[in-house]
Amino acid sequence: MASPVASLAERIPCRRREPLARWTTLRIGGPAEWFFEPARPEDLLELLDRLHEAGEPFRLLGGGANLLAPDGGVPGAVIHTGAMRRIFREGADGLRVWPGVTLPQLVRTAGELGLSGLERLVGVPGQVGGALAMNAGAADWGIWDRVREAVLWRPGRPPAACSRAEVGPGYRDGNLGDGVVLEALIGLEVSTPAAVKAAAEAILRRKNATQPVTLSSAGCAFRNPPGDSAGRLIDAAGLKGARVGGAVVSERHANFVVNAGGATAANVRDLLRRIEETVAERFGVRLERELVVWPEPGEGG
Ligand SMILES: Cc1cc2nc3c(=O)[nH]c(=O)nc-3n(C[C@H](O)[C@H](O)[C@H](O)COP(=O)(O)OP(=O)(O)OC[C@H]3O[C@@H](n4cnc5c(N)ncnc54)[C@H](O)[C@@H]3O)c2cc1C
Repeated sequence: MASPVASLAERIPCRRREPLARWTTLRIGGPAEWFFEPARPEDLLELLDRLHEAGEPFRLLGGGANLLAPDGGVPGAVIHTGAMRRIFREGADGLRVWPGVTLPQLVRTAGELGLSGLERLVGVPGQVGGALAMNAGAADWGIWDRVREAVLWRPGRPPAACSRAEVGPGYRDGNLGDGVVLEALIGLEVSTPAAVKAAAEAILRRKNATQPVTLSSAGCAFRNPPGDSAGRLIDAAGLKGARVGGAVVSERHANFVVNAGGATAANVRDLLRRIEETVAERFGVRLERELVVWPEPGEGG
């Protein structure tokens, strides 16, 4: 009899042994044994329910813009939401979005409709599901500040619409636990396309001037400690340009680890540890990782 994963793969688009390096902005990661690409909410829901019931391990992947995927790949299933990209207008100031809507697509659509409130996400890669999982944003502001409700799947329960207060997101952490974003309703303010565009362009200019946007990275590697900046601490510890194999601390923004060519996940993990140890020794500060690190096969986690 076919395994539960194999029978799902007959109905829902799925690639075998798909290299994750193709799907992460760091361009790192070995093959996912099963790489599902559901295009409809009902397929995503079926995958989650069936995989959970069968006790099969699975992980969610959006734009791979905040992720270090393991060199040895993922032995179970990876569910990539990138084919679920629909946006529906709801009322005068709401957008209901599927989890694979990209942040650039969302910011552009809001701008074209003259809806303001997402400008701080300009230039941020990734998808809505990943952004809610990370509470993506800038400084103290995060996307959850604009979420009226998110429909979440949780193991063994029917999908439920949850408010921000119910989920309790924090700084660069959506606090989803084992929840999966199926859909979100984003609440915005009615403005004009010209005003939204001008605000977004000003933010993008600042960003392009300070971040290594043309190199392969996964954005900020560490969360800012209270009242300080991780980039400032890493820079002050003399780590700009520090390198392990192909993984390098960006000269432009010390909180970005970039793949300067041929970096492995092991290189990035070693460099992250070196940064953590050096900053702890020099300043007594324990940096907390913002980058999500999936374990190597057999390591658990
Ligand atoms: C050049 C660059 C600049 C960046 N600038 C910023 C910035 O200014 N601000 C900022 O906050 N971030 C920034 N980032 C990081 C990144 O863009 C955000 O964290 C983004 O929200 C990640 O979304 P993603 O879809 O790529 O998530 P992924 O990297 O695919 O996944 C991240 C986490 O979310 C989980 N996940 C994915 N989809 C779902 C889902 N549907 N339900 C539940 N969990 C899910 C994954 O399992 C994983 O744990 C930057 C990254 C880069 C490369």
